[in-house]
Amino acid sequence: MEKQRITLLGSTGSIGVQTLDVARFRGLSVDAIGFGSDIQKGEEQIRAFSPRFCAVADEKAAWELKTRVKDTNVKIYAGSHGICDMIADSASDVCLNAISGFAGLLPTMAALSSCRRLALANKETLVAAGEIVMKTAADKGCEIIPVDSEHSAIFQCLQAGKKREVKKLILTCSGGAFFGYTKEQLRSVTREQALGHPTWNMGAKITVDCASLMNKGLEVIEAMHLFSLPPEQIQVVIHRESIIHSMVEYLDNTVVAQLGVSDMRMPIGYALSYPDRAPLPGEALDFAKLGKLTFFRPDTDTFPLLSLAVRSAGRGGIIPCAMNAANEEAVRLFLDGKIGFTDIFTVVEEVTDGYADQASPTLSDILSVNEEARERVREKVR
Ligand code: NDP
Ligand code: MG
Repeated sequence: MEKQRITLLGSTGSIGVQTLDVARFRGLSVDAIGFGSDIQKGEEQIRAFSPRFCAVADEKAAWELKTRVKDTNVKIYAGSHGICDMIADSASDVCLNAISGFAGLLPTMAALSSCRRLALANKETLVAAGEIVMKTAADKGCEIIPVDSEHSAIFQCLQAGKKREVKKLILTCSGGAFFGYTKEQLRSVTREQALGHPTWNMGAKITVDCASLMNKGLEVIEAMHLFSLPPEQIQVVIHRESIIHSMVEYLDNTVVAQLGVSDMRMPIGYALSYPDRAPLPGEALDFAKLGKLTFFRPDTDTFPLLSLAVRSAGRGGIIPCAMNAANEEAVRLFLDGKIGFTDIFTVVEEVTDGYADQASPTLSDILSVNEEARERVREKVR
């Protein structure tokens, strides 16, 4: 796999930058990059990695970048449709999708048609349209390898047994910035506090999701689709140190776990090199230094979004998409200082519960539910 060409989406974000680090270390060829609007970082990446293609979702930023890099050979694409066009034109061996949020869905669909492998960090893609994405992947013969650390861990642990021998998946969860807080304490937490994650350094949206435990809820739905298991067979356990990245329990009560330091370059590197393993920068685990590992049951009474996500997973159809959209909009409003932290809980629950079940949605149903649920959040907040 070492000579593979990579299309990297979300190249300027936390996962994107760490993917480039892995590519640099392993001498991989980055053929195409895509991002939202950060052309400063984008230009640096073009000069450092010489991709043939670059797509910028913000059209104005794309035109400015085009002027800035006219001394290079890179072809610039503009707009969301430009990202999908670029994926088709570059037709790389592997597309790593690390765009944040629902905006990653159409690029995921484009990658499934043009690439042999989709290394998927963008979990919102599977939450909103899991059935469609998994079916398209099967129809097109594109393999999806998870980049999310828990799912990468489970993917690795599943190699120890057969699918029918699996009793349950155990997703570990750091507990986020507000582990141990009471409902009362949560009411007055600030944006800055929510952005302080104990073990991982990530983009703003996912960091807030970790603080609310919604991230773990999204991951239950992600696991359900990736490994085709019902939510009842997916358990969440709080593990503050983020050393065990997740586990699989088999029929004989054997539990297989995957461990490592908290470094996303490990799951990124594995998604690129699978089925092989290849060296990576960074540290290995030092057990004597670790001392002990701790585990707790999640407090779903104080953090209700985890239960909401599990309920939504059970309802299926358009519901996880509505919940995801409401959450993205509520988190955006929280980050903009328009609503408080626990308002995210209230508004996401109300908007999700306001939807009636609708099974087997089409992609166009998913796109409209996404828009409409966001509008319902904005209306409530107004
Ligand atoms: P960041 O916010 O750090 O980066 C997001 C990236 O997506 C940036 O490159 C951004 O561009 C780009 N982007 C945003 N909107 C658009 C758009 N409309 N079209 C195209 N590109 C866009 O996020 P993370 O790297 O933290 O997370 C990325 C994804 O990976 C998320 O789905 C997250 O849940 C998942 N993930 C992240 C982990 C982590 O450790 N960070 C761990 C596990 C999963 P620009 O910079 O120009 O705005
Ligand atoms: Mg994760």
